Amino acid sequence: MSRAAFEARFPDEAACGRHLLERRWPDGFVCPRTANSGQGTKGWRLGAARPTFQCAGCDKQTSVTAGTVMHRSHLPLRTWFLAVHIVTSHSNGISALQLQAQLGLGSYETAWFLLQRLRRAMVDPERQALQDLVEVDEAEIPCRSKTDPLAGGRGRSHVGKMLLAGAVELAPEGQPRRIRLAPIAAFSAATLTASVTRAAAPGATVITDGWRGYAGLDGHDHRPKTVGTMAAHVLMKGVHRVFANLKRWALGTFHGLRRAHLQRYLDEFVFRWNRRRHTKAAFNTLLGIGARLQPATYRDFVDQRA
Ligand SMILES: [Zn+2]
Repeated sequence: MSRAAFEARFPDEAACGRHLLERRWPDGFVCPRTANSGQGTKGWRLGAARPTFQCAGCDKQTSVTAGTVMHRSHLPLRTWFLAVHIVTSHSNGISALQLQAQLGLGSYETAWFLLQRLRRAMVDPERQALQDLVEVDEAEIPCRSKTDPLAGGRGRSHVGKMLLAGAVELAPEGQPRRIRLAPIAAFSAATLTASVTRAAAPGATVITDGWRGYAGLDGHDHRPKTVGTMAAHVLMKGVHRVFANLKRWALGTFHGLRRAHLQRYLDEFVFRWNRRRHTKAAFNTLLGIGARLQPATYRDFVDQRA
């Protein structure tokens, strides 16, 4: 969706409210409290732009944004919609500072919190493990501390390394499909085996570089590739392409990643990769329609900012 198409589709609060209403309650209001109690789902609509319903059964009010990424937010719906449009249409992602400028928000904290909530919505709690043919490998990526300068030069001595495990599901013809990335504490056999078990479904054929760290894989058909005459990047093309793209993305978009936020950055990268051909679905996913997200407060994220 281009910016012009977005403006035409969502010109105001009412248009955003209608979109939420149609996606959330396509067959009419359903009260989350009394839906399963047999008391019916009748309710009265209150509020025009941001639809809210008062349940005839329990008398409680439910906003169309309850349980979505916009839950209890005081920002206009359109600000959220525009943020989601910007985040999903920039294939490389966007920093809180850039988002603040594009949305015309007065405070950096508001933009930062908004972005953190969108990033959290990038993880589907019901996602399925990778199947069929899965390449796995581990990698190191540089990280910067809060005080390091944004771009190169001095401060290089402060740059540390973060370890991560990657897994790529391959189509039969060898094309990468879905991916998983996770920070790990060490390249030990126990850590690597646990990360494979989380990423790949039981019975998947797991391809590794043959390193002994992966020797203990149970429940998977393990096909080690011994790295000798051929370089690892030739043998493990899928997963190494993911690592290379991740490193380029980290430098280009964020000037390097910070350790405190590694999981969230990886989640964003995985989201973008897995939905690179499904931007419309990505838009609704980020709004949190359909997902029952636990409400997040500013403090949930602030504690991780160090
Ligand atoms: Zn009710």
